[in-house]
Amino acid sequence: MRTVDLLIEPRWVIPVVPKGTVLTDHAVVVDAGRIVDVLPAEEARSKYEARKHDVLEQSVVMPGFVNLHTHAAMNLVRGLGADLPLMDWLTTKIWPAEGKLMSDEFVEEGSFLAGLELTASGVTTANDSYFFPEAAARGLNRAGLRAAVSAIVIGFPSAWAKNDAEYLEKGEALLKRYAGSDTVKITVGPHAPYTVSDEAFKRCAELSNAYDAPIHIHVNETAGEVADSIRLHGVRPIERLRRLGLLNERLIAVHSVHADAGDIAAMAEAGASMCHCPCSNLKLASGFAPVAAFMKAGVNVGIGTDGAASNDKLDMLGETRLAAMLAKAVAGDTTTATVADMLYAATMGGAKALGWEKLIGSVEIGKAADLIAVDLSGVGTLPIQDPAAQLLYAADRENIVRTWANGELIASRDKTMGKTAWHKAEIRPEEIQALAEKWQNRI
Ligand SMILES: [Zn+2]
Repeated sequence: MRTVDLLIEPRWVIPVVPKGTVLTDHAVVVDAGRIVDVLPAEEARSKYEARKHDVLEQSVVMPGFVNLHTHAAMNLVRGLGADLPLMDWLTTKIWPAEGKLMSDEFVEEGSFLAGLELTASGVTTANDSYFFPEAAARGLNRAGLRAAVSAIVIGFPSAWAKNDAEYLEKGEALLKRYAGSDTVKITVGPHAPYTVSDEAFKRCAELSNAYDAPIHIHVNETAGEVADSIRLHGVRPIERLRRLGLLNERLIAVHSVHADAGDIAAMAEAGASMCHCPCSNLKLASGFAPVAAFMKAGVNVGIGTDGAASNDKLDMLGETRLAAMLAKAVAGDTTTATVADMLYAATMGGAKALGWEKLIGSVEIGKAADLIAVDLSGVGTLPIQDPAAQLLYAADRENIVRTWANGELIASRDKTMGKTAWHKAEIRPEEIQALAEKWQNRI
């Protein structure tokens, strides 16, 4: 008998790799933060002596979600300016609030609160884009998440940096500082084609090459952005990025709502990823991303919630359900964006885009034990004919009863009491409220 840290015995395991597999009555064996075995539960009991045993009847265990695009600190500006036109929303609500609040402390505390929401929603890795990226990583790590954070580059001054040179210099320092880390990954983060100059883009391409860092950018988000690119640069945004050296396997093209067939083909050929954020695209009336076409072309697809200001929930399960249904409606084809495709996108798709596919994204031996358990025993999910389909289409984030990162339990939910506990952050509900109110009172 080998002694291990944790033996998880759910009713089903959805490992995500191989795609479309559902294992029944299997155990996931965890030791020193890693998945060391996945095998029939009965065999596991005779082979392993576990320090902790977690039996989860009527639950599915699967990899934790990878939220491939968010602005975590924007949890603190949630709820501002609903229903305003996009530019009014930004100029009268969001930018003035950010202008008043922006600081290292604001980003860390906002990201921490977002981290609590994320871990309670089954997210174990978040890819963030914001100012003060190190503060974002601290806040997300404190909640128990693995964090990818952007070395942001944007063509206007902020409390973080005054110009392109300073954004790039600070970004490079972060790329050096966190090289090789398993808990903080620095991405190169040119904000969007309409806020970054050709010169700054070229420097971003050099940094991404030099540090093998993903490029995290909003692109093809609105029809106006594409029209402006053609007017100002003579080409569509993806072609401009290609000319400037950014269209490659490290590119994460967030939104990609207005990608045309040429953009999709070019991204497929380059091995780039797209990140789909359907709630944000719908709420901001940006349009419908051609997700089925991206998948058909072989482009790696991940799912992101975007920030709480434009969603307003960091709910990856709900986001993935919406993505699946929207993809079918947009393509006019029920057989596209299958359950297996969508569960893959929400986990491995994000891991691949971040270059973390060897570390996370699936329940495979040797990977970090970043796992969740989803309870399907409630009235909203019974009877269970197809656990994978019902997890995607019938379960809510409230059905997520465990979130582990590196084999450590970071959040759990008591299904009878309906209460969430955060085991790493160790924070009480009244402290959460006080933290949110502290910033609300400053807007
Ligand atoms: Zn965004």
